[in-house]
Amino acid sequence: MTEHVDPARNLSSIKDEIAEIATGCDRDPADVHLVAVSKVHSEDRIVPVLDAGHRLFGENRIQEAEGKWPALRERYDDIHLHLIGPLQSNKVKNAVATFDVIETVDRPKIAKALANEFDRVDKRLPCFIQVNTGEESQKAGILPMDVDAFVKTCVDDYALNILGLMCIPPVDEEPALHFALLAEMAKRNGLAAKSMGMSADYGTAITLGATHVRVGTAIFGTRPKP
Ligand SMILES: *Cc1c(COP(=O)(O)O)cnc(C)c1O
Repeated sequence: MTEHVDPARNLSSIKDEIAEIATGCDRDPADVHLVAVSKVHSEDRIVPVLDAGHRLFGENRIQEAEGKWPALRERYDDIHLHLIGPLQSNKVKNAVATFDVIETVDRPKIAKALANEFDRVDKRLPCFIQVNTGEESQKAGILPMDVDAFVKTCVDDYALNILGLMCIPPVDEEPALHFALLAEMAKRNGLAAKSMGMSADYGTAITLGATHVRVGTAIFGTRPKP
C-alpha cells in the first residue's frame, strides 16, 4: 500500500503556517527558512516540491545525496542543499562537492578537515555547529559547556564561516527547553542562525527564534525504510 501524499500541497500549507507563526511572534517570515528534508525519498516526491518553486533541501547521507541531486541540479537552478547528518573525515571531500551548507560540524577533527578541504578547493561553505543540547551519549554534537570554546576554535583557528548552531533535541523531552538553550548559546556567541525544529515542533522552534526549520515527514510523508 502506498500512502497518498501531495508534497506540493503540504509545502504550501507549511509555508503559510510558518508565516503565520512568525508574524504572530513579531518576526519577519523571511527570516525563517524551510529546509525540506528529502532523505530516503525519491524524485517522484521531490520534483513536485521543486516544481512548486522550493529550492532549499536537507539530506543526511552524503552517498544518497550524491546519487540523487546532481541530476536534479541539472534540471533546476539555484538548488541549495544542506547536510544535516553526520560527517566523517574521509567523506569531507564528497560533502563539500555535493552540499552548499554543512549543518553538522560536531568535533575539532571535522572542523580541521573542512578547513583543509575549503582551502584546497578555494571555496568556503557556510557551516553550523551541531550542539548536543541533551548531552546524549549516542548523539553527535558539541556539549553545551564546550560550545563557546569550539565556536572560537572554528572561527579563529580554522577560519570557518559559522552561521550559527543546530540541534536535535532528545525524543522524549520537551523540545522548547532545548531550543531556548540553543538560542541562548547562539546569542552569547554572536551567531544569528539557529537550525532547530522538525515536523513535530517547528512552530515551537520558530517562537524561540529558529532561522532554519528542518521539515521532512510533514512535507514528504512517512519515509520508506531505506
Ligand atoms: C530526518 C531529519 C529531520 C526531519 O525530520 P521530520 O520529523 O521528518 O520532519 C530533521 N533534522 C534532521 C537532522 C533529520 O535527520
